[in-house]
Amino acid sequence: MGNKLRVIIAAAGLGSRMKSDINKQYMLLAGKPVLYHSLKVFNEIEVVDEIIVVAHLDEIDYCQKNIIDKYEFAKVTKLIPGGKERQESVRKGLENLDSRTNLVAVHDGARPLLESKLVMKIYDEAREHGAAIPGVLAKETLKIIDNNNFIKETLDRSHIVTIQTPQIFNYQELVKAYHLATEDNFKGTDDASIYEKYVGKVKLVIGDSTNIKITNPEDIIFAEQLMLAKNSELR
Ligand code: C5P
Repeated sequence: MGNKLRVIIAAAGLGSRMKSDINKQYMLLAGKPVLYHSLKVFNEIEVVDEIIVVAHLDEIDYCQKNIIDKYEFAKVTKLIPGGKERQESVRKGLENLDSRTNLVAVHDGARPLLESKLVMKIYDEAREHGAAIPGVLAKETLKIIDNNNFIKETLDRSHIVTIQTPQIFNYQELVKAYHLATEDNFKGTDDASIYEKYVGKVKLVIGDSTNIKITNPEDIIFAEQLMLAKNSELR
């Protein structure tokens, strides 16, 4: 199993902020479903030997037929139903990997603009440090507000990053962290926050500001433009 990388794609959210009948993972972006794009990237990376897709229970058949079978993603070994919250979906993904797994990447299915070079940078750092995650330095000024929307504090943005996925970890350590978080009923907003709390240090990799998460309806338009621009750069 050596230095192989296994991947969990969290795609079980319903994306209520999208105000759409189609789940954001299956909306079309440059003619292909959002989820297709990051699956293609991982499927083509040599060190990746297994991908688990976590989808919403009601969308398992749709995802199997319209994504995994249709585009012949050979490295997808399992398609499993997720939980109510992202943390629960990832936990289920972790349970479905072989205990001899070395490194695991957890990625949001709603981040279609991922590039393999970023994955490899995170992979290299995770091999060295046990855990590595991508993030970009904050561009805007960041402030903390009180309950009445008055500013309480202005933060030093030179030390603030906005975090993305894929986040890559030593598998056994992440499983241990998830186990302890379940016992404590601790909820983290990303996988690294669980690792930080129960295991230890996480290394930051300066990420790619185009690796956005599709959250609001306008993000699809934005992502489409970014994808077009990236494709024209390649020519
Ligand atoms: O809701 P949000 O955009 O933060 O979700 C981030 C990712 O986590 C999405 O790709 C979404 O499908 C996934 N997710 C999940 N299971 C949930 C909620 C979200 O796999 N219950």
